Amino acid sequence: MHETLSHGGQLPDALAETITARLCRLRGTDHSPPRCAALSGRIGQRVTCAIYEWRPSPCREFEAGSHACQQARRRHGLADDVQGTIE
Ligand code: SF4
Repeated sequence: MHETLSHGGQLPDALAETITARLCRLRGTDHSPPRCAALSGRIGQRVTCAIYEWRPSPCREFEAGSHACQQARRRHGLADDVQGTIE
């Protein structure tokens, strides 16, 4: 189920791209390299989610510093430590 405003959620519709009737993705996450349209700042230095309070469930479930987080950081050439890089 979409989590967009038009479907009763909190995610601004302009940030979502529909994939199927039941699935959407954040705009920019299919780009190469991927970059969510809601991300502001410079990766590896200081970034913030512009819609942090309204971010969708996959973002809420993704834990900073988790194994998956560390794997993603390594894929992008970043150190495992996330201290001071997330607001
Ligand atoms: S947490 Fe925010 S910036 Fe990161 S993917 Fe989710 S919506 Fe985009």
